[in-house]
Amino acid sequence: MTARVLVVDDILSNVKLLEAKLTAEYFEVVTAFNGQECLARMAEQVPDIVLLDVMMPGMDGFEVCRRIKANPKTAHVPVVMVTALDQPSDRVTGLEAGADDFLTKPVDDSALFARVRSLVRLKLMTDELRMRETTGQGMGLIDPAETLQDNNLSGRILVIEDRAESVAWFTAALQASHQVSSADTFEEALVRVKGGDFDLIVVSLGMRGFDGLRLCSQLRSLPEGRHVPILVVVSDGDRRKLTQALEMGVNDYLTRPVDRNELIARVRTQLRKKRYADRLRHNVQLSLEMAITDQLTGLHNRRYMSRHLDALIANARRHDRPLAFVIMDIDFFKQVNDTYGHDIGDEVLKEFASRISANVRGIDLACRYGGEEFVVAMPDTDIAFATNIAERLRQSIETTPVQVSRAPGKLNITISIGIARYEGEGDDAEKLLHRADQALYRAKRSGRNRVVSDAA
Ligand code: GH3
Ligand code: MG
Ligand code: MG
Repeated sequence: MTARVLVVDDILSNVKLLEAKLTAEYFEVVTAFNGQECLARMAEQVPDIVLLDVMMPGMDGFEVCRRIKANPKTAHVPVVMVTALDQPSDRVTGLEAGADDFLTKPVDDSALFARVRSLVRLKLMTDELRMRETTGQGMGLIDPAETLQDNNLSGRILVIEDRAESVAWFTAALQASHQVSSADTFEEALVRVKGGDFDLIVVSLGMRGFDGLRLCSQLRSLPEGRHVPILVVVSDGDRRKLTQALEMGVNDYLTRPVDRNELIARVRTQLRKKRYADRLRHNVQLSLEMAITDQLTGLHNRRYMSRHLDALIANARRHDRPLAFVIMDIDFFKQVNDTYGHDIGDEVLKEFASRISANVRGIDLACRYGGEEFVVAMPDTDIAFATNIAERLRQSIETTPVQVSRAPGKLNITISIGIARYEGEGDDAEKLLHRADQALYRAKRSGRNRVVSDAA
């Protein structure tokens, strides 16, 4: 794994030492000697992780960390505080400043690499989502997910532990702010995670009845567990288990004896990250939906129809079922624009789209195909049935004027419709569209406000 690591320390030999260790493991290292310089480096190029000294003249590491986490451009970058301090209270201060983890000086190599790799790997997953979200924003599709700051954090937490007194301790520590439940067997844990919508899973690695690590690896492979952060609890000194857990992709850890405030702070950090990742995922999903949706009418757009029509045709062929394709065009629509303005024209298009939606069935695929041209693909539908639906729609447009927001208040609109059917082996989307277009053309030429099918 290669990643850009920013090492920040006011003592040159500390910087050099970490730089040498990381470079030997093929990390790219950038250095800074005080808080201001650290922030300046990050503004130039955002690193994948920051190793941050706590005690520095001027701005101390906690303050630097706070600023990194308050800046939307850098809030997602993991920060490891490198400190000579080793009291739980110092760790809590660091966690509250937004730090992701701690390393104690002198820095142990295996701990260093295990933490850096784990945090970078976790960051890469959100980077992927961030990147897609950025593209969605660039296309004007979505608003950005805010930063990771989120104060009112309460979550559903599952504690997996088979020692009753330990469960009671975790529950007592967390239940003031969270909904806590527990599982004490391997099977129950899996069932709970599959069924429950948890925000965090705490797994004890010191259980009597089963192997917590094995459970973690199973949870990671469950669709319902993949996006839920896992916080493991290891005995102090059990480095091997901790390293294995980090390699497996657990999100964070606590060592026994667990400090209550540190637990609370680490839980809060994980919940904050999960909320952020959930929001990113939601936004990406939204941008995917918007990319296939026509913004004015909310119907699918041409891009989507073009892709989907091939699948509909393949399906009709495979199952030897009919498929009808309907194309609709507003008559003399240019006059609507010219007479009442483009915005009134838009209102007519929206109303037309909602009439289409109201008249087709759930399995029909309605799309805005071009400016004032709409199409509906109707699976499992023969020409006679499609003609009935089209005729009903034509009449509804003709007999019920479209309401508009300005004078004259109501507009009389008519539409022309062309219909084609899938003709089996040898037919394809392009030919089908062409025949529907021809039918529409005949409808226009023979006087408009009518339905014409290619079978007629
Ligand atoms: P015909 O009966 O032959 O279909 O006549 P028409 O005037 O409807 O046909 P034409 O293709 O000449 O005009 C289509 C018009 O649709 C031209 C264009 O300004 C308008 N149009 C296309 N897209 C939009 C849109 O998004 N909003 C509005 N308001 N008008 C649009
Ligand atoms: Mg220092
Ligand atoms: Mg028209």
